[in-house]
Amino acid sequence: MKQVISVRDLEEMLRSGKDVRALPADALVTPSARDLLRELENPGSYKATAREVPATVANMPVTSKSPKSEIEAYFNSPTVHELKVQICEVGRRLWQREYVDGNGGNIAIRVGEDIALCTPTLVSKGFMKPEDMCLVDLEGNQLAGTKKRTSEILMHLQIMKRQPRAVATVHCHPPYSTGFAVAGVQPPTCMIPEYEVFSSVAIAPYRTPGTPEMGKLVADLVDKHNTILMANHGVVAWSHNNVEDAYFKMEILEAYCRTVLVATQLGKPVNTMTPAQLQDLLKIKQSLGIPDPRFGLKECELCDNDEWRPGVTCAVPNEAGSRTQAVVNPDAEAEALVQAITDQIMAARK
Ligand SMILES: [Zn+2]
Repeated sequence: MKQVISVRDLEEMLRSGKDVRALPADALVTPSARDLLRELENPGSYKATAREVPATVANMPVTSKSPKSEIEAYFNSPTVHELKVQICEVGRRLWQREYVDGNGGNIAIRVGEDIALCTPTLVSKGFMKPEDMCLVDLEGNQLAGTKKRTSEILMHLQIMKRQPRAVATVHCHPPYSTGFAVAGVQPPTCMIPEYEVFSSVAIAPYRTPGTPEMGKLVADLVDKHNTILMANHGVVAWSHNNVEDAYFKMEILEAYCRTVLVATQLGKPVNTMTPAQLQDLLKIKQSLGIPDPRFGLKECELCDNDEWRPGVTCAVPNEAGSRTQAVVNPDAEAEALVQAITDQIMAARK
């Protein structure tokens, strides 16, 4: 079978110092990979920023510079209506699964080279209607829609600018994942295949929600990660497929964090997969076009959970002030407390 060479393969070769001119003579080179080869020979001929923008987005007819009437017509077209319905559906699932609270959470879909559809501010994600949606340019300026766009849109747009493959983004506050984000604990790896294949998680430091600074810190991570834990806040994920896929990242992360928490409460060390087993999953991940900073690592460098301490939350300060694992027998402690209360009651009755 002939080898198929994509841009990603070429980039991988360049990163590892291999000569891209030494491709097999009969290899099938994708059009964008051919453009990159041309650029390497003739710098300036290749538009690096446009290459990864999915054709579905790049071919959409309207930009932020289009006449207002065209923007309005596009915003009210059946194509965009269908995407508005998808946003409402994802919002309903976020609310039903308790991944959002109050008016929290927001969703965006890229619908053109420099425009995106997004959720409005101050509306519960469980009860949105297609007519509530807003259209913005990539700077966050509202182009269409009667409701005001979400204040957190800047983060979604910064993700789309830094990661041109991101066609949809979802942000919410799922309790288990957010618990990890509040504790500043990166979920451990090598435990469940679903998580290894579909998620690539990093933690961004806390900044005030909705500020450009917050968006930048998240955007700094989206090159190699599709799911970002936002410290003391929540989670945001992007997808190169569609908005439902971005939402699936939430389900996968939330189920994983919950399972890890259960597994570490069961009183015995958790079993993890071997580096060779993980390597197999990473191969599948790469073929699906999902990013991961571990691609190309040697087996001995994989499954590094050095910073992960199961049960670390059970630690209490000892008398010297340092943190140690809790060793107090809770039954003995409760008994002593009951005894102390009984003694006080008896003393008061005397
Ligand atoms: Zn939020």
